[in-house]
Amino acid sequence: MTENVYRIDLAAAHEQQPADGWWGSVTQMGPDEALLDARDLGASRGDGIFETFGTMEGRVHALGAHLARLGRSAHSLDLPEPNVEQLNAVVRRAAQEIDAPGQASIKLVLTRGVEGTGIPTGWMVVTAISADAFASQRRDGIDVVVLERGYPSDVAGRAPWLLAGAKTLSYAVNMAALREAKRQGADEALFVSTDGYALEAPTSNLVVKLDGEFVTTPPVNGILAGTTQGDLFELLEGWGERTAYRLLTIDEVRSADAAWLLSSVRLAAPLRSLDGQPLEVDVELTARINDALLGR
Ligand code: PLP
Repeated sequence: MTENVYRIDLAAAHEQQPADGWWGSVTQMGPDEALLDARDLGASRGDGIFETFGTMEGRVHALGAHLARLGRSAHSLDLPEPNVEQLNAVVRRAAQEIDAPGQASIKLVLTRGVEGTGIPTGWMVVTAISADAFASQRRDGIDVVVLERGYPSDVAGRAPWLLAGAKTLSYAVNMAALREAKRQGADEALFVSTDGYALEAPTSNLVVKLDGEFVTTPPVNGILAGTTQGDLFELLEGWGERTAYRLLTIDEVRSADAAWLLSSVRLAAPLRSLDGQPLEVDVELTARINDALLGR
């Protein structure tokens, strides 16, 4: 596997704290070099934030939207504000440096650091993605089961400490949901709120085509604001399609003309079934969407 690992050293930044957010020095790591202190709160408590960027031929998709979301995540967790300008340059350079054609993913992580230091820990892993890694899911679709998220759709405003909408490192629940979906013979889970609304998947957003309109769950309802979904809506609007943010019941998803899960690396994966009930896959439109998303 072609992979590059970088340390983002924020110790110097902590002392200087420039007005436009912290910044640090970036060093590429050798394969045997240690990166993480065992006392890091990112490792022991999942106390930190991350972004996964998708790239194609060295171009980073939705870079501005990802960095804006990283800033919002930092704010939600009371972490120091990242220097967006520096990270913009760092991520773009890392995308150029990976020695592999086609798609890659860049995972950028910032933790609360080693307990007691108050200095965040940062790193970045760039991984080449083979051209056929998601080809069949993008073309043939995915089987999805509905799983309970355990909270109502209006919880985010009332309980900001749940960090709904922040991209935190605490993904154990999301990964457990994916394993449960696989136990049930499916590829993916779709979370439903206790009041019966479709939220998002463990690592992707839902977009549904219903009565000629493309609809997704509003980010205020405790889900992550998707950068891929955001770019898709812009593309669709450019193609003259109608888009909307509103809550969808599971029955509405079931009766959709088409539905997709959207995320930065897999891009648009059409739903071919929901809880075992077949859904229509729009092969042509899905291919057009994925071509446009890869071409960004
Ligand atoms: N929702 C969750 C919980 C996610 O983890 C992700 C992926 O990072 C998404 C949605 C999709 O976001 P994006 O399109 O920015 O990758």
